Amino acid sequence: MSKLSEEREQKKAEREDRRIAKREARMEKHTVICPHCGKNALDHMTECPHCKGKLTPRGYQPMEEGRLKKIRTVLFLVGLAVAIGVIVLVSSLK
Ligand SMILES: [Zn+2]
Repeated sequence: MSKLSEEREQKKAEREDRRIAKREARMEKHTVICPHCGKNALDHMTECPHCKGKLTPRGYQPMEEGRLKKIRTVLFLVGLAVAIGVIVLVSSLK
């Protein structure tokens, strides 16, 4: 093998290594260790697939739910106001 192609092969291997490392890092981001059995589970799971232990999904905050409900209520009221406005507008055009 010539020196040039040898070098090229090595670069290719390095690139492949980097790609694998990147992929693994990406996978790891979504992986949590179960506190009950120590096995891997995915971060959005609320229950360990191995031991059925309770997991806290990453980013989950009890506060979030209350805020979400408030946002939903506000959106509903805004939608209602818009609907009433449209109805009033349409009926006033007649
Ligand atoms: Zn578990």
